[in-house]
Amino acid sequence: MARDYYDVLGVPRNASKEDIKRAFRKLAREYHPDVSQHPDAEARFKEINEAYEVLSDEDKRARYDRFGPAGVQAGSGFSGGVGFGGFEEIFEEFFSTFGGARTARRRGPRPGEDRRVTTTITFEEAVFGVEKEIEFERLEVCEACGGSGAELGTSPMRCPECRGTGEIRQVQQTFLGAMVRTSTCPRCAGRGEVNPTPCRTCGGSGLQRKQVKLSVQIPPGVREGLQIQIRGEGDAGERGAPNGNLYVVIQVKEHKFFKRKDNDIILDITLNVAQAALGDRVIIPTVDGDVELTIPAGTQTGKVFRLRGKGVPRLRSDGTTSGRGDQLVYVQVEIPTNLTVEQRELFEKLAKTFGGGVQPQSNGRGFFERMMDFFQGEQS
Ligand SMILES: [Zn+2]
Ligand SMILES: [Zn+2]
Repeated sequence: MARDYYDVLGVPRNASKEDIKRAFRKLAREYHPDVSQHPDAEARFKEINEAYEVLSDEDKRARYDRFGPAGVQAGSGFSGGVGFGGFEEIFEEFFSTFGGARTARRRGPRPGEDRRVTTTITFEEAVFGVEKEIEFERLEVCEACGGSGAELGTSPMRCPECRGTGEIRQVQQTFLGAMVRTSTCPRCAGRGEVNPTPCRTCGGSGLQRKQVKLSVQIPPGVREGLQIQIRGEGDAGERGAPNGNLYVVIQVKEHKFFKRKDNDIILDITLNVAQAALGDRVIIPTVDGDVELTIPAGTQTGKVFRLRGKGVPRLRSDGTTSGRGDQLVYVQVEIPTNLTVEQRELFEKLAKTFGGGVQPQSNGRGFFERMMDFFQGEQS
């Protein structure tokens, strides 16, 4: 558990900027690992720097006061985060010799960025998989210079400013004695190389924007929003650095009949009263083609038929599948509204056989309760 920053610097919560700075100077002098005899100097010094980093910055201090350490942690959702910076005058030097935060590092060639492309497929393609050709733009190695960034016949040369090291070292006198300060070479931006005749095609970057087409194998069982990673098919890296990845984002078109719930396919069908009362054999669509479904006599609205194995293949994280879900057929019995004269007469005859009156339903499980049971996995 990190100590309270005010305690670390030994100042009250209402300390002024000057007080904080004074306290920091004093402690920094005492605990600087290069000069301190304290056994835990390095840890203390780090803690002191961290505390000062936050409390010396009005914004960060305000967030710290309000939200505690979470308010100033990088990636905590509060903008800013703890970067090193905002330091004044002499204190910058600490970081060049200590803990690396401000240490100039020779910057290698940058790896390529990832690319993200959305592709739209049909419901059936999501079920069975498909090979899709996708078209997108990415950075590729410049054909004119082969990625060196230098015009053909020339080559980049060692940076004269930093002699190829990518960093500039300066010795400064401070109250702690001579300290070496390193910074990124401004001439070559840390690359250690300069390019006297940049390639005219790519302007010296060694990379070129290209429209590309790529054939992508989409496995069976993918769902809306899934991202398929294709390694190395993103932007090319600078001067031989690794390529970024391509992410193909799946978008699935809505189907005319089918809906999807996890790996099950849902189909709603409507039966007329005669079919429901007498039973029937009906033809219904599945993703594998039409099949015959037997409707038993006395089928009610809300009845669900399960066609095993007619659902979506279960996609595993390695891209293979194991088994398939089911197709669920939901029945709705339709009461006719526009009866022909003949139908009307027949219904009237029928009505006499049933007798009149209303039968109150017992306080049992109605249609909606059964639906809820079903969605919670308990099939009626
Ligand atoms: Zn080029
Ligand atoms: Zn340089």
